[in-house]
Amino acid sequence: MPPRIPKACRVRGCSGTSTERHGYCEQHADKAKPWTGGRAGRGRGGRSWRKLREIVKSRANGLCEEHLKRKFVVVGCICDHIIPTAEGGTDDLNNLQLLCQSCSDKKTHEEKLRAIRRSS
Ligand SMILES: [Zn+2]
Ligand SMILES: [Zn+2]
Repeated sequence: MPPRIPKACRVRGCSGTSTERHGYCEQHADKAKPWTGGRAGRGRGGRSWRKLREIVKSRANGLCEEHLKRKFVVVGCICDHIIPTAEGGTDDLNNLQLLCQSCSDKKTHEEKLRAIRRSS
């Protein structure tokens, strides 16, 4: 197999490089974990993220839970942390919901604003 070409770490401002598929340097490799599904997830049971996503999706009948609260039926495709991990949320099923792209974008945007306010 040919050696992989090191790429810049995906963390903004990090000077590290990565030859891994996930694109994070050694120092930030833990950021990639929830998405790779390779290692057992944090918390109980060691269920992988992929498995959790399947459970969340079937629990919500494949519909966006945020839209459903307002009696709208929209297909959901994104498994979202209700309390973001950056704010101490876990990968627990109680903290996961299925969202559509627009609800996820909106929520991510609000979370970013909160993060900015916290750090200032
Ligand atoms: Zn890095
Ligand atoms: Zn939605």
